[in-house]
Amino acid sequence: MVEVVADVGDLSNVDTIVCDLDGVIYIDGEELDGAGEALVTLSDAGYRIVFVTNNSMKTPRSVVNLVACLTGYQANINDVITSSMVTAEALSGRVDRVYIVGSSQLKAEFDRYGFEVLENHENAEAVVVGLDFDLTYDSLARATLAIRSGALFYATNADASYPTSMGLKPGGGAIVAALEIATGVPPVICGKPHRMMREIVKKRSVSQEILVVGDQPSTDMAMGKAEGWRTCLVLSGVTQDVALVPTHLKPDIVLDSFIDIVPLFFGSDD
Ligand SMILES: [Mg+2]
Repeated sequence: MVEVVADVGDLSNVDTIVCDLDGVIYIDGEELDGAGEALVTLSDAGYRIVFVTNNSMKTPRSVVNLVACLTGYQANINDVITSSMVTAEALSGRVDRVYIVGSSQLKAEFDRYGFEVLENHENAEAVVVGLDFDLTYDSLARATLAIRSGALFYATNADASYPTSMGLKPGGGAIVAALEIATGVPPVICGKPHRMMREIVKKRSVSQEILVVGDQPSTDMAMGKAEGWRTCLVLSGVTQDVALVPTHLKPDIVLDSFIDIVPLFFGSDD
């Protein structure tokens, strides 16, 4: 299905496709049908494809490797933006010592950026929160104590849920919310659709003629809407019914899956 909901004008001006990963290119460790073929077709035709993910358990290198492994498409590491790196860049030059509630990959990213990643909350200048499968009361307590002592409170993203084959599990935003309740301090949120992520997307794009492709209205569509970029919702991930999308997040284009983007740019043989 290709449904053009709004008048998006001539897509021939588009030079950059900002593409979400989970629910668009792959899901549960498997390629979504034809995603790799579509990526290669678009890339060979000269479109820049920028992968943007809120998943703080991914590093740019792990995204490149996973996309290549699942789809055969070889992405450039400079064309991958993760919420972890956006958060690390946001704190660079502001603090040195961070206490992290999050995955080993998030900690590795902060280590790569030169931060001192603390085991103990004492002396933390900032608390950084992302999705953490090994979350404990102790880590929440340490983060709370640090924030209450004046440490900055940064979140990689505010995603409420994490899609799995079992259904929607708690996302990083659920952990962030627990700490906000415990401290009374609102976090600075770095991932989609927030400003810090959008600024890095702009730097990595050819121009501002951008099409955002994603499966999550509250992050992917919201990011595009905030900048006036064109938006394309795919129904292969968390959203199955476009009728349920709030009016202010309605996409310009709705596709069943990413492979359906090809006829939008190159026409159809049908
Ligand atoms: Mg997604």
